[in-house]
Amino acid sequence: MFAAMPTPVNDPSHGFCRDCLTLQRGSGLRCSACGSPRLARHPELYSLRIAHIDCDAFYAAVEKRDNPELKDKPVIIGGGKRGVVSTACYIARIHGVRSAMPMFKALEACPEAVVIKPDMEKYVRVGREVRAMMQALTPLVEPLSIDEAFLDLSGTERLHGRPPALVLARFTQAVEKEIGITVSAGLSYCKFLAKVASDFRKPRGFSIIGQAEALGFLAEQPVTMIWGVGKAFAATLEQDGIRMISQLQRMERGELMRRYGTMGDRLYRLSRGQDERRVVPDHDAKSVSAETTFDTDLASAADLVPVLRALSEKVSARLKKAGIAGRTVVLKLKTSDFKIRTRNRQLADPTRLADRIFQTGLQLLEKETDGTRYRLLGIGVSDLSDADRADPPDLVDVQARKRALAEGAIDALRDKFGKKAVETGYTFGKGRNAHPPEDVER
Ligand SMILES: [Mg+2]
Repeated sequence: MFAAMPTPVNDPSHGFCRDCLTLQRGSGLRCSACGSPRLARHPELYSLRIAHIDCDAFYAAVEKRDNPELKDKPVIIGGGKRGVVSTACYIARIHGVRSAMPMFKALEACPEAVVIKPDMEKYVRVGREVRAMMQALTPLVEPLSIDEAFLDLSGTERLHGRPPALVLARFTQAVEKEIGITVSAGLSYCKFLAKVASDFRKPRGFSIIGQAEALGFLAEQPVTMIWGVGKAFAATLEQDGIRMISQLQRMERGELMRRYGTMGDRLYRLSRGQDERRVVPDHDAKSVSAETTFDTDLASAADLVPVLRALSEKVSARLKKAGIAGRTVVLKLKTSDFKIRTRNRQLADPTRLADRIFQTGLQLLEKETDGTRYRLLGIGVSDLSDADRADPPDLVDVQARKRALAEGAIDALRDKFGKKAVETGYTFGKGRNAHPPEDVER
C-alpha cells in the first residue's frame, strides 16, 4: 500500500521525506527521490518518543471528504442551537472565521460559506477509526478529545522496526489514504511540547521540538502557550507585567509559588520545558455516571435540582475512588414520552469535584426545565483521564476555589464519620419522590 519503508538509521544527520519516506542525507531542500519539499530533519529526530496528533479542522474535513463538491469552498460547521461556529475549514479561516464565533459574524466575514449542521454521530465514528489506527501503533494512547490524542511511542521501535518519528510520519500518511482526512503531528520528549508542536504548523504539520532547543524556543513564546493559562489567568499575569515565557524562566520557583500557589509551580516547570506527566491510556470506562427514574414525572427545577445534586455527589465519589476525572459533563433526561435528551459541556480541565459537576449540570438543566415532564434524570462525566490533571486551582474564580476546599473538607469528614454525617443543602429533603440513585457505568 505504501512505499517500502526505509531501513531505520539512528543517525541524527539523516532526515527523511514525509511524502515518500526516503532517508535524506545532507541538507538539500527537496527530497532526493521524489522532489517533495516536506522533509523532516532534526538533530533529535530519532530519539524523541512522545507524540501529539490532532486532526485538521476535523468536522469540516469529514464533510469535505463526504461531499467532494465542497472541496474548494469555505465550509463552516455550526449553526446548531447555540448559533456558533463549531469548526471552520481552512478556506473559511482565511476569511477570518474562527471556532466559537457567533454564526452571524462568521457569515459577515465569509458570506459565501457553506454552512453545515454538525453530525456528531458521524464525527464520533470517524474519530474512533482514527483512534483505532493510533492504538495499532502503541497501547499508550491518551485521547484528549474526539480528534486528538497523546501517544507514547517508547519501546515500539522493535515492534515497528523503525524509530517513532518514521512511525508517526507513516501514520499521518495512512490516515490521509485510509480515512480521507489530514492530521498534524507534534513530536517531542514531553506532552506539553508535543502538543505545542502539533499546533505549530497546521494543517498537515509535522513539527519537532527537541530537548536542546526547548528553553530557547519557549523563551520566545507568550505565556498563553502554557497549559492551564487561559484568558483570565493570562490577564492576571499581564497585570503583574508578565507576558512572555522568558520572564517566567528568570523567576525563582519560590517566588512563583508565593504569587500563584500550585499554578506557580506549574509555571516554573513548564516554562523550562519540564513536564513529567505520563501518557495515560484510555480507561476502560468511557464515562462515569449516575441516574435515577422518578416514581412520578417531574418538571420543576425545585424537584429536579436536588436530585441532580445527589447524583453529582455519587459520580464525584466514584471518580475520587478510582483516581480519575472527566472533562465533559453529560446531562441525561428522559421525557414522560420516553424521548432521551442528552446535553453536554466540555470543561477547560478535567474535574472530579461534585460541585463542578453539579454547577455545570445545573447550567445544562436550566435550559431544559421548560415545562417538559421528565421520568429520568442522569448526570455523568466522559473524556476520562488521570486525576493528576484535574481541577487546577482556579485563581480567578475565588468562589470555585472555596467550594473545592469545602468539598475536600466534607470528603474528609465523610471518610471519618460516614456518608450521612455531612449533607449539603441541596440534598436535604430529597428522596420523597426519587428512587435512590443507581450507578450506571459505560
Ligand atoms: Mg483538531
